[in-house]
Amino acid sequence: MTAEPLALGLDIGGTKVVGGVVDADGTIISTIRRGTPAAGGNALRDVVVAVARDLGERFPVAAIGVGTAGLVDPARSTVLFATHLGWRNEPVRALLEAACDVPVLVENDANAAAWAEFRFGAARDATDSVIMVTVGTGVGGGFVLGGELVRGATTTAGEVGHMVAVRGGRLCGCGRNGCLDQYASGHALVRYARDGGFLDGTAVAAAARMGDPVATGAFRQVAEWLARGVADIVQLLDPQVVVIGGGLAEAGDVLMDPLLEVYRKESGDRGGWPQPQVRAAELGNLAGLVGAADLARRHRGSPR
Ligand SMILES: [Zn+2]
Repeated sequence: MTAEPLALGLDIGGTKVVGGVVDADGTIISTIRRGTPAAGGNALRDVVVAVARDLGERFPVAAIGVGTAGLVDPARSTVLFATHLGWRNEPVRALLEAACDVPVLVENDANAAAWAEFRFGAARDATDSVIMVTVGTGVGGGFVLGGELVRGATTTAGEVGHMVAVRGGRLCGCGRNGCLDQYASGHALVRYARDGGFLDGTAVAAAARMGDPVATGAFRQVAEWLARGVADIVQLLDPQVVVIGGGLAEAGDVLMDPLLEVYRKESGDRGGWPQPQVRAAELGNLAGLVGAADLARRHRGSPR
């Protein structure tokens, strides 16, 4: 038994809202899932409160951490902008503190996932610095440096998907041309595999695991772009561990094997300095929930 109290983590995504009670070792004790209402807005607010109340009434949670897509304010209280949730300036902390009467912290889901992998997952042996790159529909990331999550001046630090990989390359949704996101995301994977007639990334991943040459070739292309991006980030930040997560990473070796091979070539010998470990994430799609809960427990006594 641990003396540290339980915390509640909430993962608010475009398709579902997941609540989980998490102990101080990062173990999830109980979860609830509800569909994200298509209307978003007020309907989504009601679902989030219902999930938090349900778990909060059954377990003695000391804090609530919310991991959400979109932009979160520097005070970790408000979701400023989350297109696919239909939220703008949504006061999530105020909403949940009124409903549940415990301290609430809101964090971007990629940052929360990076924190979880640092504390409990693939980088739990790291003492100082971890970079997480998430490869799903898009490419995102989060950094832990000096044992703390790096959020940046406006909380968008770690958005590695919008580093330019190709000058004058494909137009990205962010307005720049040639972002890594356009070459190393789930969208790019499906594009690379278009000759195989696959409908989505899940189908490409399934075929790649069966050894389909078009699908494995598509994963290799994604892996090559990612490896170059990772090599650049390592030069910039010199982390102990790099964690590769997100939906595509769940495909396993078909992504990680070529990624590690190209990374070794791209990173050179770093002048003889030690290389960071590059590893697949371990906590899967509940990493954001676990990380948000842990951050909330850790910061519950902090001044606002
Ligand atoms: Zn971009």
